[in-house]
Amino acid sequence: MLNLQTPLNKLIGIGPETLKRLKNLGLETVADLIFYFPRRYDDFLATTPISKLRIGETQAIAVKIDSIKNERSPKRRMIITQAKVSDPSGQLNLVWFNQPYLAQMLAIGTNWIFYGKVSWDFSHQRKIMAAPLYEKEAGILPVYGETEKLSSKILRRIIKPLLKIVGEIPDYFPADFLAEKKLVPLTEALRNIHFPLDFLRLEKARERLSFDELFFWNLRLQLAKKNLTLQNAPAIKPDEKSLKKFTASLPYQLTNAQRKTAWEIILDLQKSKPMNRLLEGDVGSGKTVVAAMAALAVGRNGYQTIWLAPTEILAIQHYENVSKMLEKFGLKIALVTAKNKKLDGEKISEKELDEKISGANLIIGTHALLNGKIKFEKLALIIIDEQHRFGVKQRAELKSGKGYMPHFLSMSATPIPRTLALALFSDLDLSIIDEMPKGRQKVETKIIQPERRKNAYEFIAGEIKKGRQVFVVCPLIQKTEDGGRRTDLFGDERKTVLEEYEKLSKEIFPQFHVAYLHGKMKAAEKEKTMADFKNGKYDILVSTSVIEVGVDVPNATVMMIEGAERFGLAQLHQFRGRVGRGEHQAHCLLFVEIWSDKIANRLRAFVRNHDGFKLAEEDLKLRGPGDLIGMMQSGMPDFKIASLGDAKMIEKSKRAAEEIVAAGVDNFPKIKQKLSEFYLTRHLE
Ligand code: ADP
Ligand code: MG
Repeated sequence: MLNLQTPLNKLIGIGPETLKRLKNLGLETVADLIFYFPRRYDDFLATTPISKLRIGETQAIAVKIDSIKNERSPKRRMIITQAKVSDPSGQLNLVWFNQPYLAQMLAIGTNWIFYGKVSWDFSHQRKIMAAPLYEKEAGILPVYGETEKLSSKILRRIIKPLLKIVGEIPDYFPADFLAEKKLVPLTEALRNIHFPLDFLRLEKARERLSFDELFFWNLRLQLAKKNLTLQNAPAIKPDEKSLKKFTASLPYQLTNAQRKTAWEIILDLQKSKPMNRLLEGDVGSGKTVVAAMAALAVGRNGYQTIWLAPTEILAIQHYENVSKMLEKFGLKIALVTAKNKKLDGEKISEKELDEKISGANLIIGTHALLNGKIKFEKLALIIIDEQHRFGVKQRAELKSGKGYMPHFLSMSATPIPRTLALALFSDLDLSIIDEMPKGRQKVETKIIQPERRKNAYEFIAGEIKKGRQVFVVCPLIQKTEDGGRRTDLFGDERKTVLEEYEKLSKEIFPQFHVAYLHGKMKAAEKEKTMADFKNGKYDILVSTSVIEVGVDVPNATVMMIEGAERFGLAQLHQFRGRVGRGEHQAHCLLFVEIWSDKIANRLRAFVRNHDGFKLAEEDLKLRGPGDLIGMMQSGMPDFKIASLGDAKMIEKSKRAAEEIVAAGVDNFPKIKQKLSEFYLTRHLE
């Protein structure tokens, strides 16, 4: 009997190769496939009469095959399939390359739906549809995240028959709940998300599934919040004198926003309930010093702070900066990373580590600190840097020895608009630094036209000769076999970075030292490269978007971004924030591969606008459901179907979750059960 847990290898008609490819996509059971939602849809439903086809647009036609034949192209060794098709309104030529089998398959006199882009054939002065997709029946066809040799066609064939069991998946929401929220039943949603009969039904399916995703996300947060308020935290009395001394000791004046947010945090720390706060601020707005003030207050009370950085190099950077700020106030600061080596390279013993930690007021480190073995007897505050929030698991691991729950302070990796932050992180209180320190230089941002590429390289060479350094960011792109390019979530990012590295180090800048970084490198390798770059060993660093957030290389003055149209504005802003941290004027150069009006508008907004919050908002407005670019960054939920741009739905789901919490989740056993097994749990780990 087919059920949700049936492994795919028990199904008839899926070969071992296909099984392997499915596994690569993380698809191993029937449930995995049913919840593998399409990325987008091809519209074979709304057909256009041939006489009304618009040039430059992708459209569907319902036609009869009048003639079809293969011929060999004279110049290149390619087989061209030409077809003439017609409907009552007229006749059209279709053409395919290197698919000779089509001439048999699309038999003369049979009816088909074709779907493709219409263009103008200059040599024959007529409209033409090149390489259209074809289907026997009209419909809205799902397009899934594909890998090589596992096309949406194959996925459709596998998924369609599985949908007959969705009727057996019970809905966890009561009928009156659904009616009130205007949501369709789960069964209907699951069917229509794959094979919708029309766009209205598709929209309804998407609404329901987005709601579920956001609802369970919110419900978990709110239950965690409720749980947190039941715990006790050490109350920290602020030592005003030392805080005043601290601000006076800084080489600059705090901005008003820094003062205000520091105060909000200090007030929270005074309570004996754990703080759970997100400190938001644009790149370079000065979050570190605000967090340092919290650590100072905690240290002066004889308690400990843990400060977590996402990478070792960032931990070291913080250690150096924060030590300078806090040591003169009698605080002992320790650095703990995975390596934990002494200066001579010898690994320190557990005993030594224990001593190091128990004697420290502030322990700065990476997630190595969370191995569960280290006991923090006097822990009162956990600061987590460059992440929007804590995972539930992380939090559980950090309870102190005395049974106290520490206070939590997250610092955002990128600014997200207030309303979104409030709706999405409903368990957090929010402090926003909405002001940049005075006198910050603006990074001069330019879109470089292809014909000016050489000049840009000359400019870069000039900067390097002056002693400066350069970042080059490439998108995740893979060259396809026919020489085209496509973004590919499953593509090999190594390839593009290595290609770019080869090009720059051998052809363009052989006289300079070039290094590269990509996500497939070992963490230690990445960190070494980054540290070497920071120390001036290299002039140019080629990288994918893995380029570490927050790393300070004050000597870098150029951020060059290839395929800039592939990145979201928030992400571009994050890259741009890597330069302009020193005394020299910095530059951000954007190279664009594919132009459209939409892309041009987006990138021009980026050139003009230097405010991270505004850009993030812009980004959200422009994002459609299922958009992959942009917000993929640490700490942001990577929803499968819900769109971060859909403020209404986020709000609605949040309120629904609040209702359930208020009414007591125990009164909704089905929802409660779903909470632990919901397919989105991974977002919260
Ligand atoms: P982020 O918010 O991105 O973490 P940082 O805390 O790293 O930013 O601060 C960026 C830089 O700005 C640091 O070099 C820091 O010393 C400096 N800075 C912080 N606050 C101020 C201020 N009020 N005036 C001038 N410079 C400041
Ligand atoms: Mg920072």
